[in-house]
Amino acid sequence: MICPPLTITFLGTGTSSGVPMIGCTCVVCTSSDKKDKRLRSSILVQSETTTIVVDTTPDFRYQMLRAQVKGLDAIIFTHPHKDHVAGLDDVRAFNFFQHKAMPLYANSLTEEAIKREFAYAFADKKYPGIPELILNTIDDQPFYIGDIPVIPVEVWHHKMPVLGYRFGNFTYITDANRIEEAEKEKIKGSDIIILNALRKETHISHYSLDEAIAEVKGLCIPQGYFTHISHQLGTHQSVSVGLPKGIALSYDDLVLYTAAVS
Ligand SMILES: [Zn+2]
Ligand SMILES: [Zn+2]
Ligand SMILES: [Zn+2]
Repeated sequence: MICPPLTITFLGTGTSSGVPMIGCTCVVCTSSDKKDKRLRSSILVQSETTTIVVDTTPDFRYQMLRAQVKGLDAIIFTHPHKDHVAGLDDVRAFNFFQHKAMPLYANSLTEEAIKREFAYAFADKKYPGIPELILNTIDDQPFYIGDIPVIPVEVWHHKMPVLGYRFGNFTYITDANRIEEAEKEKIKGSDIIILNALRKETHISHYSLDEAIAEVKGLCIPQGYFTHISHQLGTHQSVSVGLPKGIALSYDDLVLYTAAVS
């Protein structure tokens, strides 16, 4: 699929509790390094004409303000966990300024959760000022949002299917710890992959640091960035120095640029 050059902004790179975690006095949560301040995981994907957000975290409002997002064409969702959908109500600002409903793209599992958790937005009798949403159900078929091609990649978050996404030669996968071979074929050839890496110890539904490194190497992707990071991983500085060439921890506000694919 033809893809224009893209700008990718990390809106958040933390696990579900964020970093710092409320009440925690560990070395990471008390670090003064800006790179140890992680909002919940989300990215902004932009071409010259189209802007997409992946997931609406509990920090969505502040993420839109911090990244100075003035217009948003669509939101695509990875899975229904609260740290990926909770901020959806704040699309109201875009409804107001853009004078239209916000298109959402999600699989049926996530769509069910959105309808349940934001039932007031889908009620027969709507009170004024609620979010205006248009649900678009997606499966494994590629689609376009504006001029940006989106290829869903199904991955496993323990037993929950989660959608990762490939945009041109850039792939974003959060909340996973297993990718089947057939889905890996959709990822191979990417120049950059973002993958979740929760902490050093293994976890039932997230890649550990070593598992994430092994996946990037196995996929032969030259550049890997890790996200959805827990305070248990360690400080950005202390973990970064030990990473193999081509692999880095992401951090909030990091911006990547991708080449066009023709
Ligand atoms: Zn998550
Ligand atoms: Zn901590
Ligand atoms: Zn999750």
